[in-house]
Amino acid sequence: MLLSRNVTRKVTFKCHITICTLDLPKYITEDEFAAIRSQKIPIGNMTLPKYGEDSVPHAARPGFGPRLWINAQVPYTLDPSFSAEQRQKVALAIQAYHDATCIRFIPKQTLIASMIESQVDILHDPNVCGVAHLCMNTGAQFAKFGGSCVSPGVMIHELGHTLCMGHEQSRRDRDNWISFNTAVCQPHGIDGADFNRGLNKLYDYVSIEHYEGECYNGCFQPKQPGVTKCGSGGPLSVLDIEILNEMYGCTQGCLGYRYVNINNNPTYLVQIGEEPYGDILYSCRAYHQGDIIPGKYHAGRKECYVAYNGGEHSKTGAHIEVLTSPNGAKLVWVRSNQLPSNAIRGGRTNERETIKHFCQNLL
Ligand SMILES: [Zn+2]
Repeated sequence: MLLSRNVTRKVTFKCHITICTLDLPKYITEDEFAAIRSQKIPIGNMTLPKYGEDSVPHAARPGFGPRLWINAQVPYTLDPSFSAEQRQKVALAIQAYHDATCIRFIPKQTLIASMIESQVDILHDPNVCGVAHLCMNTGAQFAKFGGSCVSPGVMIHELGHTLCMGHEQSRRDRDNWISFNTAVCQPHGIDGADFNRGLNKLYDYVSIEHYEGECYNGCFQPKQPGVTKCGSGGPLSVLDIEILNEMYGCTQGCLGYRYVNINNNPTYLVQIGEEPYGDILYSCRAYHQGDIIPGKYHAGRKECYVAYNGGEHSKTGAHIEVLTSPNGAKLVWVRSNQLPSNAIRGGRTNERETIKHFCQNLL
């Protein structure tokens, strides 16, 4: 009788403990992903960590040379102190990567321990806005958000660092694209390594890894005419998605297309037409009034023609990219009055709206 009562009390006590501390596993469950799947990442002014506070080298690799996650798989754990609402924000951040790339955040629990060389612990820290170790390191590393910065966008930004994305305004060639108003702020440092943005990639003012407040307070002065927005405001940008798919070698489905600077001797260009006298036209894109606009590249003239406000504009020089398909993705140029559901992203407006490859008027 006594034994029976003891057992009952013990089980009841354990149940309460279970509900409080273990009910939420250290990974996002399928149910949690299902609950947020139809939600969009909200776009708005986003508070990011201050310069110098949010990406840190790992103690094991103080030089933090670029090191990518093996097989694009990132073993992770979740902070057990996350509330259900905070877990939703992390779920949205992870889902953003899963939707647009071949990168997969995989619960550490589901992996064989001996195969885990590295892992990221996704944490809440009330004393920081956001901070993460850069690139894959040996052993545990973290990506944190907290305080007033608990939003999907900040976690996407921090997980971008985990994946080896540096700050856009710190890439080596940034002086071609922005200047710093030293009356307002000190120039940000240059990243020691090109984590992701090899030279000659178009600069992305609306990258998730681009600080935004510094554009609005006059610290950054964009050199491209027409640029009024900085930072993505929350989601991955069109160019972020491309860079990640290139970094991690994603080729599945239609992820294998690549934009290459015209001066980098691109191959596998995507042909979109032919002039009456035989010159071939390829798909290209270039900046115009702050937008990155897909157009047609005339190889003979070395010009990229983009459409804007009902007119055609010729672009020349060092900042033209052409669409290539080196991985066998079947990119088919179609005439259509409706945007096909599988149209690929080709550019974006200054206002962060995606421009898909739908260029009937250019042919
Ligand atoms: Zn950062």
